[in-house]
Amino acid sequence: MGKIYLFDVTNRDGVQTAKLGLSKLEKTLINIYLNEMGVYQSEFGFPTTRHERLYLQANLELAKKGVLKPIRLSGWVRATVGDVEAAFRRVPELKHINVSMSTSNQMLRGKFGGKSTLKDIIKSLTDAVDAAKSAGAESIGVNAEDASRTDINSLIEFGLAGRAHGADRIRYCDTLGYDNPFTIYEAVKALAKGTGMPVELHCHGDLGMAVANSLAGAKGAIDGGQDAYINTTVNGIGERAGNADLVAVILAITKSKDFAGKYQLSHPVDLSKSYKIAKFASYAFKVPIPINQPGVGANAFAHASGIHADGVLKDKGTYELYDFTELGRGEPEQVETGREICTGQYSGISGFRHVMDQIIDGFAAEGHSNGDMSLSFRNDKEAGEILELVRYANVEAQKPLVEEELLFIAKYPGIAKKLLTLRPLDGDD
Ligand SMILES: [Zn+2]
Repeated sequence: MGKIYLFDVTNRDGVQTAKLGLSKLEKTLINIYLNEMGVYQSEFGFPTTRHERLYLQANLELAKKGVLKPIRLSGWVRATVGDVEAAFRRVPELKHINVSMSTSNQMLRGKFGGKSTLKDIIKSLTDAVDAAKSAGAESIGVNAEDASRTDINSLIEFGLAGRAHGADRIRYCDTLGYDNPFTIYEAVKALAKGTGMPVELHCHGDLGMAVANSLAGAKGAIDGGQDAYINTTVNGIGERAGNADLVAVILAITKSKDFAGKYQLSHPVDLSKSYKIAKFASYAFKVPIPINQPGVGANAFAHASGIHADGVLKDKGTYELYDFTELGRGEPEQVETGREICTGQYSGISGFRHVMDQIIDGFAAEGHSNGDMSLSFRNDKEAGEILELVRYANVEAQKPLVEEELLFIAKYPGIAKKLLTLRPLDGDD
């Protein structure tokens, strides 16, 4: 029986959301948290985009060092030979890629003015898959954009063509959030059967069904004899009404009626990292977590009405499906109400050392070990070099860095330097 793989796209679909974005350091922290959680794959960016290059290279370096392991890091490009070649030229260590093409008549009319037929699209796709193979890609997904408005036989033809050239999976994109659980189940089951390929579910929330559709699609893929890959984003951040929320998807797979126990995740997931990743993404994107967000919202475990409060006090199972501790909640949060020294782009050495000392004391007080982290600077020169990077990180983030960002810079100054390097005018390719 097929399994469900978690394939997060926060660092690709999430960051292309209007009005929102992440610094390269924030994107890196998201990858680290996804890896800690046990997420199988992160679509970590756009390898054809010049300002992503050093970030993508730096994250692949972290993978080599074992920091981003076992998570798979994959890029997203359009399914053209030009894009694929540019991707592997700019990010030569890239191993996993998804190549994307629109497949619906609406998109063919709207985007290509009716000049491209499905045959042309498929030719571009197979040429792109060939190019990715010869560039050394180890896994290739072929994305059917607007799949939910594409006739199923065309989708199968698209997938089979990709497969014949060595593609590993097909991504079924419900680009406009048009599907419902009933339609996506049938379409994806037919697609899995018709192509013999694992199917990725890429669902949007325009009709409020991104998580439900992801589950129904996964069931369709598995019932069709294949593995399913669910595309998620942290806090559901994504274009327009957003994508399927990572934590809600995990909860739905592992807790929902007649699904839990039957359809299973490919790898164990550490749900207790949920609260941390959700809080960080909220801070980094500057988007509050909705009060009623599943699992991580402020009201997810709050009870006021007499009958509910009485019931849950007698037996929590009366009004709660799962426990807050499972999501890593329940620890008191400290908020500074007095003097506060922050890091910023104009910070000096004594303020910086003070901030770092506080972080170190905090970790010690909580009884954390910091592994091989060297948490004390040998001298002011060493501290000054880290501070310089912290200043640059603040220029990019335009807000105080969180503790784990500061620790990351102190631990991997060489990687941090790459993440913070933007060279728009050096004319390289
Ligand atoms: Zn999308």
